Order: sequence, then structure tokens, then C-alpha cells
Amino acid sequence: MIQVTADLARCVGAGQCVLTEPAVFDQDEEDGTVVILDETPRDETTITRVRQAIHICPSRALALAEPAAPARTDTR
Ligand code: SF4
Repeated sequence: MIQVTADLARCVGAGQCVLTEPAVFDQDEEDGTVVILDETPRDETTITRVRQAIHICPSRALALAEPAAPARTDTR
């Protein structure tokens, strides 16, 4: 499962993420900072748009935490 995170200290309220994927991102009515509506989207199309939003966010406030690859158990 992936998890969408936002650093509100960096967010400048540009709203690019909301335009890119409104099912996951919204903006606070008072200060315009990002509000994450769905922290763990599962739909591939949605995840692709989340990646786009992360890429275009002007303040680099968004990130995607992905599970680490499973540890290898063979020691060869
Ligand atoms: S695009 Fe980035 S700076 Fe703009 S509202 Fe979204 S998280 Fe904040």
C-alpha cells in the first residue's frame, strides 16, 4: 500500500495538486494549504495522477511513501 503525505510547512497553496487529482487533494478553505482526502489510494489511474501532482507541486510539499521491497532471504 502506498501513502500520500504532505508537508504543510512547505505548501504554498498553489492548488496544482487539486487540479491534477481532486479525488485525493483539496485545499483548506481558510489558508489554502493542501488537505489530503485519500491518504492510501489504490486505483492505478489515481496513483498515476498523484505522482503527477507530486512532480508539479511548486514547493515540493507532497510525497509518496511506498513499502520497501521485500527483504531477500537467500544469502548466496
Ligand atoms: S500543489 Fe503543492 S503547494 Fe500547491 S496546494 Fe498542492 S501541495 Fe500545496
